[in-house]
Amino acid sequence: MHSLAETADKRFLSFAPGFWPNVNPELWNDWKWQLKNRVTNLQQLEQKIALTREERAGVILSGNKLALAVTPHFFNLIDPEDPNCPIRRQVVPRVEESNRSPAEMADPCGEDSHMPVPGLVHRYPDRVLFLVTDRCAAYCRYCTRSRVVSGVGEQELHTDFEEAYRYLEAHTEIRDVLLSGGDALLLSDDKLRGILRRLRAIEHIEFVRIGTRVPIFLPQRITTALCQMLQEFHPLWMSVHVNHPRELTIEVKAALERLVNHGIPLGNQSVLLKGVNDDLDVMRALVHKLVMCRVRPYYIYQCDLIHGSAHLRTSVAKGIEIIEGLRGHTTGYAVPQFVIDAPGGGGKVPINPGYILYHDHEKIVIRNYEGKIFEYPEQEMAEYSGHQAEELDEFLYS
Ligand SMILES: *Cc1c(COP(=O)(O)O)cnc(C)c1O
Ligand code: SF4
Repeated sequence: MHSLAETADKRFLSFAPGFWPNVNPELWNDWKWQLKNRVTNLQQLEQKIALTREERAGVILSGNKLALAVTPHFFNLIDPEDPNCPIRRQVVPRVEESNRSPAEMADPCGEDSHMPVPGLVHRYPDRVLFLVTDRCAAYCRYCTRSRVVSGVGEQELHTDFEEAYRYLEAHTEIRDVLLSGGDALLLSDDKLRGILRRLRAIEHIEFVRIGTRVPIFLPQRITTALCQMLQEFHPLWMSVHVNHPRELTIEVKAALERLVNHGIPLGNQSVLLKGVNDDLDVMRALVHKLVMCRVRPYYIYQCDLIHGSAHLRTSVAKGIEIIEGLRGHTTGYAVPQFVIDAPGGGGKVPINPGYILYHDHEKIVIRNYEGKIFEYPEQEMAEYSGHQAEELDEFLYS
């Protein structure tokens, strides 16, 4: 008889060594070998999979926009027989990336205009985004920061670390620092420890988190030594980035578990992508596998209006439909918040199915996940603070 763990584990697969049948397992598990052996050009790509005309042209044109790079670990998840493979769509360039539609932008979230110091984005009152490197283990074709990421795009990232620390020291309202890039986990343990030490020396910084796709692209990087270093800086949280259930392999699950076992709470951010995860069954499988890895689904992002992303963007209605199909139907912990990062720099705005059918000073009429309708009495307006009452008035009478 199978144990419960064995039965459950059948959804988690390993694809190694795949396209690298002759590599010694010790090298395979070395993250530096994985980086050195990334697929980065047309020739290496065509040795492994038959490209479509759109992909071939895409690879040739990608050289001065966003580099091509895929780790052997992640490359093995590609189904070579399927030109529409959801893994392939995320990392193999397509000619459509050269198309530009009028709504698209180089900096869709308006980060450059919210940078008091090069590399530090201060858009919300109490927290900042700190861009500590411009390199990633692999490059996502829809990357919202492709203008600076990978080193071949329109702009270069010139983070001024000393100036950033001075800004953080002077701004006592900042209690939360999010390290991103690029991918902070590509830095050496020493470099990262140095940054975390400087941040931890600032008393008003309560909370540090790292946004990273390294556990997914390069699970070998999540060594015990890295985890032990990170746990010196608690409370430290991490947001990983998984879009499709196939990305949660045995190796990735083990890497995520190592992080959690060192006390790092994990959240996941997915980008809603056409042909990748714009499907309720795919998203349900993803969020269920995430909670099995002890990762809380945090956000689903509507794809930003980055140049050349039209072929990967879905309707907003699709995202609402997915949330509608999850909320109430499955574990609340498994339901992420769908958001649009408002174009031009408005920040993340929650987008929800309409569960409020009517709301006035006497009652609220709501519907549940099954479409059944319920009423709840509204309390006296006097109990609201001025600000809330004003907001409600605006909502009711606009
Ligand atoms: C996403 C983001 C944050 C963090 O937002 P949370 O909703 O707290 O996760 C902070 N700063 C910037 C600029 C961001 O884009
Ligand atoms: S890992 Fe993140 S920063 Fe790097 S390319 Fe992908 S989306 Fe962009």
